[in-house]
Amino acid sequence: MDSAPDRTLSTTPVGADLRVCPLPNAETQLVGVLGYPVRHSLSPIMHNAAFRHLGLNWVYLAFEVPPESLPDALRGMRALGIRGLNLTIPHKEAAVALVDALTPAAQAIGAVNTLYWREGQLIGDNTDAEGFLRALQAAGWQPGEPALVLGAGGSARAVVYALKKVGCRVVIANRTLARAQQLQRAFGAEQSLPLESQALRPLMPALQLIVNCTSLGMEPDSEAMPPVPLDALPTEAWVCDLVYRPVQTRLLQAAHQLGLRTVDGLGMLVHQGALAFERWTGQPAPLEVMDKAIRESPIH
Ligand code: NAP
Repeated sequence: MDSAPDRTLSTTPVGADLRVCPLPNAETQLVGVLGYPVRHSLSPIMHNAAFRHLGLNWVYLAFEVPPESLPDALRGMRALGIRGLNLTIPHKEAAVALVDALTPAAQAIGAVNTLYWREGQLIGDNTDAEGFLRALQAAGWQPGEPALVLGAGGSARAVVYALKKVGCRVVIANRTLARAQQLQRAFGAEQSLPLESQALRPLMPALQLIVNCTSLGMEPDSEAMPPVPLDALPTEAWVCDLVYRPVQTRLLQAAHQLGLRTVDGLGMLVHQGALAFERWTGQPAPLEVMDKAIRESPIH
C-alpha cells in the first residue's frame, strides 16, 4: 500500500509568519472531516479555533464525499500527505477495510472516526468511546453501575464498549430488540430490553447512569424524547444525551427538572475531537478553547 511521506510536525507560529507570508501558505498542514452530508459539521469551527489558539499553521476543512468515493478520497489523502482525517456518517464502518492498521478500540467497535499517520502507516482509530468517557468524567461522573444504554446503532456500540471497558454492568434498550441483543452479545452486556417505559420501570431504581444513543429528540423532532420513566431513578443518577441539536434536549430538560445530574452531547463531541487533535499534532488539545468555540457557534 502507498504511504504518506514522512513529515515532521509543522509548528510554524501563525503570528511570526503573517507579516512575511499570509496564511495559508506552502507550509500549511491540512486535516479535515469526510462525510455525506457534512455541511452541518461543527468540527471545522472547533479545530480551527484550537490551531489559532496554539499558533499552529494548520487548517481543518470539511469534504462532502459520497460513499462510493471513500476509497478514492483516502488514496488522495495518501498522495497529498493530508495529516489526518475525521470520518462521519456514512464512512465510519467502510473505512475499517481501507487503513493499514486499526487501534484496539476501532477494531472492537468496528468503526473508524479518526485517521492518523504513524511510521508511514495509516492508522484507523475510534475516539468516540474514549471521548464519551472523558466527557462524563469531566462532569464528575465516576464509573458505577448498572448503566442503561438507549439505542443499538453506531454510537451505542462505542458507548457500550467504553462502559464495559471501565467495568460497568450494562443494560441495552432499543426499539428493535434484535439489534440490542446483537450488541449485548458483541460486548458481553448484561441484558437487552425493548425501548418501552413499562419494560424499563422495574430497572430504574437501581440505575446509576442512562445514556441516550438514539436519535430521539434530535432536530427537527426536538419535542420527542425516549420513553424512559425518569421519575423512578435515584436522585443521584446521571442522564447523558448524545444528541446535541438541540443541546438541551427534552430528555435533559426533564432530567434537570427532577434534580438529576446531566451531561449534554457537546461534551463528547469536544472530547473525541480533542483526542483526534492530539493524535495529529502531538500536542495537548486546548479543551476550553474548543468547547467555547462550539458552544458559541451560531450554527448549532
Ligand atoms: P444510528 O446508528 O442511526 O442509530 C440510531 C438509533 O436510534 C437506533 O438504535 C434506532 O433504533 C434508534 N431510533 C431511531 N429513531 C427512533 C425512534 N423513532 N424511536 C426509537 N428509536 C429510534 O445513529 P448513531 O450514529 O448511533 O447516532 C445516534 C444519535 O447520537 C444521533 O442523534 C447522533 O447525532 C448522536 N451522536 C452524537 C455524538 C456526539 O459526539 N455527541 C456522536 C455520535 C452520535 P432501531 O435500531 O430500532 O432503528
